[in-house]
Amino acid sequence: AKDLGKNRYAFYKKELTDKAEYRFKIEQYLREAIENQQLSLVYQPKVDIQTGSIIGVEALSRWHHPVLGQVSPVDFIAMAEQIGMIKPLTEWVLKTACNQANLWKEAGFSSLIMAVNISPSHFLDSDLVPLITRVIKETGILPGELELEVTEGVIQTNPENLAVFEHLKQLGVLLSIDDFGVGYSSFASLKHLNVDYLKIDKYFIDDILLDHKAKLLVSSMIEMGHNLEHKITAEGIESKEQYIMLKGLGCDYAQGYFFSKPVSANDVSILLENQ
Ligand code: C2E
Ligand code: CA
Ligand code: CA
Ligand code: CA
Repeated sequence: AKDLGKNRYAFYKKELTDKAEYRFKIEQYLREAIENQQLSLVYQPKVDIQTGSIIGVEALSRWHHPVLGQVSPVDFIAMAEQIGMIKPLTEWVLKTACNQANLWKEAGFSSLIMAVNISPSHFLDSDLVPLITRVIKETGILPGELELEVTEGVIQTNPENLAVFEHLKQLGVLLSIDDFGVGYSSFASLKHLNVDYLKIDKYFIDDILLDHKAKLLVSSMIEMGHNLEHKITAEGIESKEQYIMLKGLGCDYAQGYFFSKPVSANDVSILLENQ
């Protein structure tokens, strides 16, 4: 029994070491990918729910590694935060997305809104406002064509966070609360913040046809958001029935596989041409 215990420990230790090594390797790959700009962006259309026309897109990061394959952004964004690479990553995303927005504008697709996700830790960093200022200046995007999506989790109502929001508003960029409703501060944040959009989380949209409570919650969020002068976006719409229900509930914008998955810039151009 003693031997077994010892072996098991040895086995365990080896596994942990391998894990740590594996992790270290992936982190190294990610660092290189960010430094050498080996990430790419896909874009998911957002539509006006009443007219069905595309009003903008959300930029979503992709990392394809030759050995690891496709890595989920949920994993590599968290990793980038941990290894201190989130700032260069976000800067690359912002510039790439804004340059793409300019290309669409030059091609005649005017007044599209480009939405970029800002991770919580970066949002609270004093570097964010200067970064956004720089990106606007360098790319020439109109501030009103750039939307920043931030999850409500970061929105604590301390004065520093409020100041970041105020500065961003002064720049003229659009602000969106992502994954609205699933965090713990939804209502507290609404009391203090001057944001343009609330993005109702897919979690609620998933059950909207089956669960009467989910429907009531979404309906209430839309009404409350409108009373507070926010526009409402529903995310994760996968069926026509969900779309029709949300349209009936007075939701403003919609996003989801029913309209389009996140696709390449080229494929977005084709969608824009055909609408
Ligand atoms: P998110 O910001 O909530 O983005 C929505 C996610 O839901 C995306 O997954 C999108 O592809 C997926 N989605 C959209 N419509 C549907 C649908 O109808 N059905 C289903 N099943 N899924 C749908 P993705 O691209 O894997 O991104 C996951 C998360 O990773 C994002 O969640 C966001 O938090 C983060 N992320 C992605 N790119 C970036 C980035 O450049 N910067 C930061 N900070 N975070 C990013
Ligand atoms: Ca988002
Ligand atoms: Ca979301
Ligand atoms: Ca989400």
